[in-house]
Amino acid sequence: MKKRLLSICLAVWMAVAAVGCGASGVSQEQYDALRESFHALQSSADEMQSDMADREAEIRDLEEQMEGYRESLDIFVEASREAEESAAQASREAEEAAAQASREAEEAAAQASREAEEAAAQASREAEAAAQASREAEAAAQAAAQQAAAEAAQVPSGEEVHITDTGEKYHRAGCRYLKSSDHTITLTEAKARGYTPCSVCNPPQ
Ligand SMILES: [Zn+2]
Repeated sequence: MKKRLLSICLAVWMAVAAVGCGASGVSQEQYDALRESFHALQSSADEMQSDMADREAEIRDLEEQMEGYRESLDIFVEASREAEESAAQASREAEEAAAQASREAEEAAAQASREAEEAAAQASREAEAAAQASREAEAAAQAAAQQAAAEAAQVPSGEEVHITDTGEKYHRAGCRYLKSSDHTITLTEAKARGYTPCSVCNPPQ
């Protein structure tokens, strides 16, 4: 653009100089001087042109460099994005792994708790069974002892017991049921008449 403008200026100036030469009848020397300065202008224009070509080449180089930088930047941005994504992925995986581990630990704890409860319940049942067995053994021992005592207390059938006017029980002497009436009969007779032993004084049977 500048180059073209410069060329046009020079052409116009040359034409004006030529016309001036013809019109005012300038001398050959003046014309040569003009020509010379025209050549000087032209060579400086050429210099400028080549200078500009150099600048343009520099600009192209710079543009290429910039293109290179831009590509590097793109690559860097891409790499950065990939790094971010893989970091995010790693983070997600770590979170999932942690959550999984936590769930497994909870399940294991719950399972252990259930097993401990079952074991405790089982131990409790066994202890209860042992206590029951112990109670039964004690009761059996007591029954056997009572039986032995009853047998030892077995008396001759001629022994005397006491009855009342109205009751259906027979008693030992001194039983509190004998306050209103008290009759002495033999045990054999009492049994024969349908009397049963008093549960308070526990007479012989
Ligand atoms: Zn009695």
